[in-house]
Amino acid sequence: MALAAQAVLAVEVLEAVADRGYDDSQNVKQCLDAGITPYISKPPTSKNGPLGRFTKEAFTDDAAQDVYHCPAGESLTFRYVAKQKGRMMRHYEVPTLVCRNCKLKTQCTDAARGRKIDRWEDEPLLEAMRARVKANPQKMQQRKQIVEHPFGTLRHGMNQGYFLCRGLTKVRGEMSLSILSDNLKRVFNILGVEAMLAGLTARRTANA
Ligand code: SF4
Repeated sequence: MALAAQAVLAVEVLEAVADRGYDDSQNVKQCLDAGITPYISKPPTSKNGPLGRFTKEAFTDDAAQDVYHCPAGESLTFRYVAKQKGRMMRHYEVPTLVCRNCKLKTQCTDAARGRKIDRWEDEPLLEAMRARVKANPQKMQQRKQIVEHPFGTLRHGMNQGYFLCRGLTKVRGEMSLSILSDNLKRVFNILGVEAMLAGLTARRTANA
């Protein structure tokens, strides 16, 4: 959608703000490669957090040494790189015996071979994005106000809960009509009918 918006707006530089459901590393990279700066919050995907175990954030990344330091002060060193779901992932581990003898093991992992950490080769792109999101909370707030509002209005205010049509083409038409109605209502409420008609007239004159 960000790439499509970039094409429609005919701009080279663009910022894209999306909710955490769109946190996909390959999409983030695709945006950056195209000159689009993405802002997406990190969703809680760790299975360790809900189990009361250390999440990846409890491990300190030492980029210069290419190791992670765990809460027990041990080092998870780089072991190998492998493709995982289309991404090249770097794997870091502590020697199995170290984890087995660790007093914090129950808070860390139930894996017999000890704790491992996976890191995407382009992880710095995600880390930079997390820092951007943290430094600009107003952008995420603005996204909610701009993007969530029409969906709430369409679904509840205009009773567009379920589509009445079937098939992609018809549903697209139904959705387009709903959005057009909402846009018109917004223009009436913000500008008023007279200002909207004056704007349309001015545009028609300019295009003539
Ligand atoms: S279990 Fe292993 S990785 Fe976890 S805190 Fe202990 S030594 Fe560190």
